[in-house]
Formats: sequence, structure tokens, C-alpha cells
Amino acid sequence: MSAGTGNGAAGLNIALSKGRILEESLPLLARAGVVPVENPLQSRKLVIDTNLPGVQITIIRAADVPTYVQFGAADLGIAGRDVLMEYEGDGLYELLDLRIARCRLMVAEPAGLAARDDPKAWTRVRVATKYVNITRRHFAAKGIQTDLIKLYGSMELAPLVGLSERIVDLVDTGNTLKANGLVEVERIADISAWLVANKASMKMKHVPLKALVDRLARAVGSNA
Ligand code: AMP
Repeated sequence: MSAGTGNGAAGLNIALSKGRILEESLPLLARAGVVPVENPLQSRKLVIDTNLPGVQITIIRAADVPTYVQFGAADLGIAGRDVLMEYEGDGLYELLDLRIARCRLMVAEPAGLAARDDPKAWTRVRVATKYVNITRRHFAAKGIQTDLIKLYGSMELAPLVGLSERIVDLVDTGNTLKANGLVEVERIADISAWLVANKASMKMKHVPLKALVDRLARAVGSNA
């Protein structure tokens, strides 16, 4: 399913989400020559023009970025690898690792439990997470059954209140886990933000889209 009409025939629309992705995407976009006319970190506008004629950015929820791009409501999007792995659609191209918003997706549990636990002996685990698809797949590949508790945030709280001993969540510095008495026990994936594209836009807007993607690729390279 695709539409590819993100921003009219000639324009390009880039979907971004608030938070770390937006904060780290803006300098990267600026190095690629794309500067919003209003600061999206402060503006309440959801669609913002840029210095490039016809190029707009749209600010949406992180988990919605793949949907907007798949259905052509945006031509391009910037989404965390975690969001892309969790999304089960298939109508978009993963074009470029932007190497920003880096972190890791981990299984974590209370330090006291980890001291006597052996992940190799797990046959069935109860896990609280917002990444239910990734978690199910990760454990199924190892022959481990999962009882999943879907949460929308603050996963670190689950072991403290007895929802589940184990969680799957993003970890960067490890400070949040530590502050809640949790430790990392298994790495599921290394995460960074990726540039994704609508399949129809790749064909119908190939020239302007490719030019923008090349500029972003050079901006990523110059930051290596
Ligand atoms: P930290 O305390 O630095 O390990 O960060 C962990 C908290 O920040 C968790 O609540 C994560 O969900 C969130 N987090 C860490 N890295 C990212 C990222 N790249 N994108 C979005 N959320 C993140």
C-alpha cells in the first residue's frame, strides 16, 4: 500500500519525532543544508517550512513515523531502529543509518535477581515492555516463551511495583536502570536513527529525493 503524495507533486515532506531524534536530527539536517524556518523544538506547529522551497518537516509521535512514510503522508522519515523493528509494515525503504540517537535495546532485571540468574536457563519469561513484537521475536528465536505486558513508558517501574521482574527497554548511559536498581542482562540490538523513504516517492520524486538523501549521507559522513 502506498500513495506517495506526501507534499504535492514536487515537494518533499520529512517526518520527525520530538525528543532525542529531533534534537539530534536538526544539526544533521542543517549540515545537509535543510534549516526549518521556525525552531521545531519551540514551535507548536506540526508542519514547518524549511529554507529549501517545497521541503517541509512534519513533527509526529515517534511510533507513527513508519506509518506516515509507508502510506505516503511523508516522503521521508527519521525513526529509531527500535521503532522500525517494532513496526510490522513493509512498505518503506530503510535508506541510511544516520548514526544519531544511539543507544541499545536491552533486557534488564533487578540486580538481586541478576546475581543468581542464568539467562541460558530461561524457558519462559514475563517481560514488561513497549516493544512487544521485538521481544516476542527475540525470545522465540531462542525457544523461550514470553508472557508480555505491554506498557507505553516508564518500563523501569515494572519490577519495582511487581508487574514483571524483567523489562525490555532502551538504555543509553545506564543511569535510569541504575537509579531503579536494575542491571542489563542481555543485548537485543544496537540502536540508532535511520532515514526511511516511501516507496512510491522514491520513484515519483526520485531526483529531488535522491539529492536530499545524498546531502544527508555526506552530512553523516562528515560527522564520523
Ligand atoms: P539512560 O538513563 O541514559 O540509560 O537512558 C534511558 C532512558 O532514556 C530510557 O527511559 C530510554 O527509554 C530513554 N532513551 C535512551 N536512549 C534513547 C534514544 N536513543 N531514543 C529514545 N529514548 C531513549
